[in-house]
Amino acid sequence: MFQALKEYNHVVFLVAQPTVNKLAGVADLPGKYSFIFTDNLGGRGPEVVAHEVGHNLDLKHTQGWDDYGNLEGGPKDPDNVMHPTLKEAGTLDKLRFYQWSVVNKQQ
Ligand SMILES: [Zn+2]
Repeated sequence: MFQALKEYNHVVFLVAQPTVNKLAGVADLPGKYSFIFTDNLGGRGPEVVAHEVGHNLDLKHTQGWDDYGNLEGGPKDPDNVMHPTLKEAGTLDKLRFYQWSVVNKQQ
């Protein structure tokens, strides 16, 4: 099975009952793999998948603190798909032009 994963650019694992409290997901930045913690999505599954794959494509958080306590820069942008927290997030359906440029560099 894992041999077959080499053929894909991005692989998303869905994980129930995660040992990581409260996080909705984690991902390589940039990279191939991301993990979605299905018990922590709060009804925002598609948005979280887009967010974590965004990390795989080298997109960073728009503001706030990362999962490891490091302050990250950027404007407050609660509707942006790369907003760092579900609790304070808006629609999570926006992608800025500078982010689109980052994504296109990965192709
Ligand atoms: Zn994130």
